[in-house]
Amino acid sequence: MRNVLNAVCIDCGAEHEANDNTYTCKKCGGILEVIYDYAYIKTQLTREKLAGRKDPTLWRYRELLPIEEGSELTPLRVGGSPLYKADRLGKILGLKNLYVKDDGLNPTSSLKDRASAIAVVRAKHAGMSTVACSSTGNAASSLAGNAAAMGLKSFIFVPERAPKGKLTQLLIFGATVISVKGNYEDTFKLSAAAIEKWHWYNRNAAINPYLSEGKKTVSLEIAEQLCFKAPDYVAISVGDGCTIAGVWKGFKDLYEIGFIDKLPRLISVQASGCYPINRAIETGRPIEWMEEDTIADSIAVGVPRNGEKALRAIRESNGITVNVSDDEILAAMRLLGATSGVFGEPAGVTGTAGLKKAAEQGLIPEDATVVSVVTGNGLKDVTSAQQAAANAGPLGEPIHIPPDIGILIDEFEKRKIKA
Ligand SMILES: *Cc1c(COP(=O)(O)O)cnc(C)c1O
Ligand SMILES: [Zn+2]
Repeated sequence: MRNVLNAVCIDCGAEHEANDNTYTCKKCGGILEVIYDYAYIKTQLTREKLAGRKDPTLWRYRELLPIEEGSELTPLRVGGSPLYKADRLGKILGLKNLYVKDDGLNPTSSLKDRASAIAVVRAKHAGMSTVACSSTGNAASSLAGNAAAMGLKSFIFVPERAPKGKLTQLLIFGATVISVKGNYEDTFKLSAAAIEKWHWYNRNAAINPYLSEGKKTVSLEIAEQLCFKAPDYVAISVGDGCTIAGVWKGFKDLYEIGFIDKLPRLISVQASGCYPINRAIETGRPIEWMEEDTIADSIAVGVPRNGEKALRAIRESNGITVNVSDDEILAAMRLLGATSGVFGEPAGVTGTAGLKKAAEQGLIPEDATVVSVVTGNGLKDVTSAQQAAANAGPLGEPIHIPPDIGILIDEFEKRKIKA
């Protein structure tokens, strides 16, 4: 990889060769970060060159990705998700320049596809035939889908509580699914042991430093979609912390190669039932274990695996932390859907819920350019979506009637519905 210099420990700074034999620091066990040769990349990639590329997927940014030359790329359309100007929602939140990035439109319906695409490409290039991960759901379904598209086998470890939609995706993509009686932490540890025993390619995002490099492409797209005027704020939901770290890395990369001239502030949103990363920011204390009590299963992470990278991203960006209740998450799901036509899963709209709260608290200037990233699709968790609809009032359920126009008129009158 001519564009990559090395992989540096974010805790002690030790430098390592960038390859798939080393995921964590050999000195202190810390998490590694991929370091690029920006001077070289600048000679290879310009805004004009990028604009001329027809490929809408994340591979359009290959100069900024840790991919070996000659790698076979996943054929799935990962990335290239739309950025919508969300004026109706913006009006409600008091924001004049609000955008919604719908990453639920990725091939397996979450932002995680961006990381899994890198995982399967690297695995294939390394000559591996099997990939594995533990996940609360989306990393798993995206790995299984991307593996299937590349002809790789996948072994997936999920905690018992993974929603049905996500589990079903795994089974359809032909993964071997191991449902672990325990929480995410237990699941993670078992997968790590199995990966070591059978030498599978490791897609555990916090351990494998290449994966947040895939996730950063969401920021590369946002910037390109805004004609390289970086937004002022980006709101995103946080679980393990790899996504927000990736979001930050993407903007920093663009800044380093001179594509953008300022960096956004990050709005880190967690569930008030599980917010170990935000708590560390708010208290200035180290990250400590927290109970996992939220319907936003994709971000119910009591022991964040990438906490340090996330903390650094939030602090460097002069970021804001917001914690939202399950009710606020469900309300945001309905609000986003009904004002914008974008349907997110609970963790998918947690960023939007946090943005709403921050805006109501007057933390965001009304003329700021703000992007709310929707990280996963609502159809993955229909049970929560039905709850969100029901909470929203009498129209949260269908009107059940016999096929009779008279009765329909009566029902409309009774419910004060203007036809
Ligand atoms: C994984 C995930 C997140 C959070 O990403 P982390 O890297 O765990 O912080 C947010 N939303 C959805 C839908 C996810 O699947
Ligand atoms: Zn180290």
